Amino acid sequence: MRKVFWDDPYQDKWVTRVTSVAGDQVQFDETIAFCFAGGQESDKGYVNGMPILDSRHENDVIIYTLPDGHGLAQGMEVVMTIHWPRRYRLMRLHFAAELILEIVTRKYGWEKVGAHIAEGKARIDFKSDTNANTLFAAILADFNDIINGNKPIETGYSEVETQRRYWKIDGLAQVPCGGTHVRSTGEVGLVTLKRDRPGKGIERIEIRLVDA
Ligand SMILES: [Zn+2]
Repeated sequence: MRKVFWDDPYQDKWVTRVTSVAGDQVQFDETIAFCFAGGQESDKGYVNGMPILDSRHENDVIIYTLPDGHGLAQGMEVVMTIHWPRRYRLMRLHFAAELILEIVTRKYGWEKVGAHIAEGKARIDFKSDTNANTLFAAILADFNDIINGNKPIETGYSEVETQRRYWKIDGLAQVPCGGTHVRSTGEVGLVTLKRDRPGKGIERIEIRLVDA
């Protein structure tokens, strides 16, 4: 299964072929519909206009759940589409979270204990006893430098057989990640940070896009 959302994350419409059907569980030759991984939520996708109800990873393939009576059969050519405004917000917030994580772990040595990227906001949970509010100005100063520098974001395979992916910014970092990524830091744009404390010794940082 070719994961087009990795090679070409800007596609919102793709002609593909059904490779397997087992009841409502369907697999495709190529796909643009991202399935939950690394904290990034799944895309809202459609096949010939029918909504993808669910998706899951099984080894290297993604299995999609289609509505009962979908009428798809092996070998059939279909059109897959995704809800692009949602995906684009997820991509931008995902990378915003990547950068905040890099900055916080390097500057303060905080350990990440969780992360989630939704359409409206991303959050990262860190192990820390320091109030994150006191650091936001310094974190955002570094973040804005990277955004305003409009640095290219390179992505690729670190290992093809196991489908391990990375993103890289020259001179900044190379990080393993199987998410979908924008082409440059300028596309991420500016963000706001908000502290939310879910438990003792855990600092939760929420990230929102300023313009979305
Ligand atoms: Zn990533």
